[in-house]
Amino acid sequence: MKTHVRVLVVGGGVVGVSTLYHLTKKGWTDVALIERTELTAGSTWHAAGLLPLFNMSYTVGQLHKYSVDLYKRLPAETGQDVSFHVTGNLRLATSSERMDEYRKYCGTANTIGVPFEIISAAQVKELWPLADLGGRADTPAIVGALYHPHDGHIAPADLTMALRKGARGAGAEIYEHTEALGFERTPSGEWHVRTGKGEITAEHLVLATGNYARQTGRLLGLNVPAIPVEHQYVVYDESPELKAYRQGGGRELAVLREPDASYYLREERMGWILGPYEKGAPARFADGVPDWFGRSLFPGDLERLVPHVEAAARRVPALEHCGIKDIVNGPISYTPDGSPLIGPAWGLANVWLNEGHSFGVTAAGGAGWQLAEWIVEGEPGIDMLAVDPRRFGAYAGKRYLVKKNEETYRNVFTIHFPDEERSDARPAKTSPVYDRLDSRGAVWGQRYGWERANWFAPTGVERRDRWSFRRTNYFEHVGNEARLMRERAGVIDLTPFTKHEVTGPGAESWLDSLVANKVPAKVGRMALSHALTRRGGIRSEFTITKIAEQHYYVVSAGAAERYDSDYLFKLLPRDGSVSLRNITNTRGCFVLAGPKSRDVLAQLTDSPLDNSAFPWLTAQVIEAGLAVDVYALRVNFVGSLGWELHFPIEYAHHLFDALFEAGKPHGIGMVGMRAMESLRMEKSYRMWGSDMTADYTPFEASLDRFVRMNKGAFIGRDALEKQLAAGVPNRFVTLEVHGVKDADPLGNEPLFDKGSRIVGRATSGYYGHFLGKSLAIGYVRAELAKAGTELAIEILGERKPATVIPESPYDAENLALRA
Ligand SMILES: Cc1cc2nc3c(=O)[nH]c(=O)nc-3n(C[C@H](O)[C@H](O)[C@H](O)COP(=O)(O)OP(=O)(O)OC[C@H]3O[C@@H](n4cnc5c(N)ncnc54)[C@H](O)[C@@H]3O)c2cc1C
Repeated sequence: MKTHVRVLVVGGGVVGVSTLYHLTKKGWTDVALIERTELTAGSTWHAAGLLPLFNMSYTVGQLHKYSVDLYKRLPAETGQDVSFHVTGNLRLATSSERMDEYRKYCGTANTIGVPFEIISAAQVKELWPLADLGGRADTPAIVGALYHPHDGHIAPADLTMALRKGARGAGAEIYEHTEALGFERTPSGEWHVRTGKGEITAEHLVLATGNYARQTGRLLGLNVPAIPVEHQYVVYDESPELKAYRQGGGRELAVLREPDASYYLREERMGWILGPYEKGAPARFADGVPDWFGRSLFPGDLERLVPHVEAAARRVPALEHCGIKDIVNGPISYTPDGSPLIGPAWGLANVWLNEGHSFGVTAAGGAGWQLAEWIVEGEPGIDMLAVDPRRFGAYAGKRYLVKKNEETYRNVFTIHFPDEERSDARPAKTSPVYDRLDSRGAVWGQRYGWERANWFAPTGVERRDRWSFRRTNYFEHVGNEARLMRERAGVIDLTPFTKHEVTGPGAESWLDSLVANKVPAKVGRMALSHALTRRGGIRSEFTITKIAEQHYYVVSAGAAERYDSDYLFKLLPRDGSVSLRNITNTRGCFVLAGPKSRDVLAQLTDSPLDNSAFPWLTAQVIEAGLAVDVYALRVNFVGSLGWELHFPIEYAHHLFDALFEAGKPHGIGMVGMRAMESLRMEKSYRMWGSDMTADYTPFEASLDRFVRMNKGAFIGRDALEKQLAAGVPNRFVTLEVHGVKDADPLGNEPLFDKGSRIVGRATSGYYGHFLGKSLAIGYVRAELAKAGTELAIEILGERKPATVIPESPYDAENLALRA
């Protein structure tokens, strides 16, 4: 065994071996992999081998597409067959909501370039003659289907062996029966790994340990948010009907999914494999995999399987005529949102995770590709936020994971409505004024573990969402909240914001080196600032306020707490010139905005609030009611006159009550997250994570005014310079969408030019309730970004005309903000 490598991959499942393979593709050949037993001995050996391209996530969709393309090339490249059966993949629909889901997905697929077809029930029968089209109480009628002609299934072990061959051929080493037992950071910053077969030092560590992620993580002090859940499939004997069909010249049937009955079905040796996602499947190994498990399986649980087996037999009557040969019940790694953990581990330099894969055979190619790029080039080539391990925070503890992962598992096949909110393990993290909001009718959602009020049900209105891809029960109430904010005064509880305090003599110059904008030099000034990737993409957005000399208050998205904190701490100068504190939980935040907001706040403070004393885009430390040390920032995300009040958390109740008392004569009210979405869309405000991502530079995002190319060096500057020289390829646009009846754009819709070519994508959309317009924002090719350009947007399968309109359709001059 070597004693030193550049990268050591721990774990020899399909994901680890793919990472190794892709590292060599990137030119790093001094790399090795250790596997505690034998390659594929984890979940990989018993996977059903399906490769579904379907995924609602833009990022995961791209990873899966890469995998499927790679797996088709691999046999020629490595000489190892992978048994890729390109059967196609058929997802049935038995309701109009399911069809809406497929149509929404089609928008994403179009922007990624995944070929698909929406087909009728009659075409289902042609493709899948053994299917019963239903129409009975126990077997609903098929109303259509989504068909992917290019995916299918593969032999996971063969695939792993092909990747192994490719990696080894390029110089990578693989050591089986070699378990990682401990990790230690060396003084030079490398990782010293103790294994059962000796010691090895590596510059970088990749953990790809599947079901063992919890215990491997523990060796490094990481609470990895991945816990497996039991997943079973049934293997059937030969099917006489299938055999007759195939012997009659029928081609291998497409992998069939009936999401409304929660199962998949594929051919296997003239019989079938049926895999359900059942209710009640338990999480396993929350504390780690016991020694006895090894390559074993769990006993099959027939009771859980029965409803799915029966539903499948009604849909495919041929199943009734073949016996069950085997039940495979194995652990399948899960995370609370069902997407894997691919990227840097938090708090540790040069430790990378490729864990939490529930569709790991499908994802392995893409996951290895992007992780290798990240390690070798310092950054991934596509926006990876949706799979970044730091999208979860410390709140994702063991019990939370168990509940959430079981919930995610049983919901694999439910309809993924854009406004869906899942209920398990909630409420967990709440703002201090949770009860006050609750008593005002809050309809709760959850993000980054935090409860957030999506909207407020007025007295007598049903206090729940009717989830939909279209306008639904809360539409009118969200509209009322938006109008309240524009016409009177509204309060939004944004306590979950991520908040850091940066102090010390080096604070200003350090922050300046991280962001594209100039960090404010004067006390009381603030700057909207973007931290860029080295490729120039937008990584984070910070509102940086100078509170006092050598003291900055840095606010970013609530869901970015670990993501931003890890970034800042890793780049913190080691010379003691700068101190950094994550103070997220020590300050709350209320947005008070609307034309009456000044009148309301004036009753609570003696600080003058007029424009000369407290202009727009400035900040002051004020007293508000009995609350002291309140950072009042005259900015907000809704585009009305107003303040963000960031207060010591212990004043939350007092300040809330005082605001509502003072605001009563002005008709003050609560405003939820959905109204905020509508209001920010009317201002063309970009949201971190959807409109501002690593895929686009600030020039593409038309945030030029927040970039100071002349201020000196900052991360990403060189890439921006190159882009300016070459020409900015895409530009941010605001679109008014015409002819919308009940389905507004929501993001991830393709944009077309007059010639029906895809020329960009909407990254967000919503109904602008105050303006009475359906709006979208997104990116198009630069030459099409001029106001007045006529484009089309595809919403749930329908093309709607969309006009590029000037930015900020509400109050383009910012008169309300400056009022
Ligand atoms: C019944 C079932 C059916 C499935 N069907 C599909 C499907 O059709 N399509 C699909 O895409 N996915 C499917 N999956 C999921 C798929 O199996 C996994 O997502 C995938 O195999 C994960 O691969 P991995 O490399 O991350 O993990 P694993 O294959 O579990 O590999 C991890 C490896 O790490 C090793 N290891 C752990 N700790 C150490 C250590 N300390 N030192 C050295 N080595 C260590 C383990 O021995 C193991 O070999 C299915 C899963 C199950 C259970």
